[in-house]
Amino acid sequence: MTFTVAIDGPAAAGKGTLSKAVARHFGFAHLDTGLLYRAVGAKVIAGADPVSAAMALDPVDLEDDSLRTPQVAQAASKIAVDPKVRAALEDFQRSFARRSGGAVLDGRDIGTVICPDADVKLFVTASPERRAERRFKELQERGLETSLDQVLADVKARDARDGGRVTAPMVAADDAVLIDTSDLTAAEAIAVAVKAVSAARKPDAP
Ligand code: C5P
Repeated sequence: MTFTVAIDGPAAAGKGTLSKAVARHFGFAHLDTGLLYRAVGAKVIAGADPVSAAMALDPVDLEDDSLRTPQVAQAASKIAVDPKVRAALEDFQRSFARRSGGAVLDGRDIGTVICPDADVKLFVTASPERRAERRFKELQERGLETSLDQVLADVKARDARDGGRVTAPMVAADDAVLIDTSDLTAAEAIAVAVKAVSAARKPDAP
């Protein structure tokens, strides 16, 4: 059985939490596609050429904890505007989406470009201020020094770059279910996401 759940949206909207919860609930595999771009961004910070780094990417590269820093996030968003970098990462994402047993992919262009035929698409948003608060708290808990103002500026810069690029801009697919998590607890948002996926699975359910 293949079944693809595409979850898109801006940084720190809650995609990661929702994706992991949906994958766990239905027993699907999960791919955080942001990690692909972060891994390329990290290699570029270390001096690599973006396209060569994307072409040579190894799944093991995604397991590096240092990918979750604001510096790597900004580098990822910069290399992500390059169509050649994006093209080099497509096959890996598409074959993951088609794996047997179901897959959840989260990112920016999953429902629009990578898996336009996904069985269910969610677009997860929240206000920039709420997202910045959440990301700030998360970074503080991990001991990374930053300020709320800096995190908000980073979130807005990434929104503008990710939404404004020519190739695969961050945009909700026409058939995506919109989930605004600004005023939802994680449990409430997860319940909405699970319900949307269950509804899409119904026709084939025994
Ligand atoms: O999701 P995350 O914040 O880890 O993504 C880091 C960056 O990678 C994003 O800001 C975006 O520029 C890029 N990205 C993308 N397409 C995806 C996933 C991430 O362009 N499918």
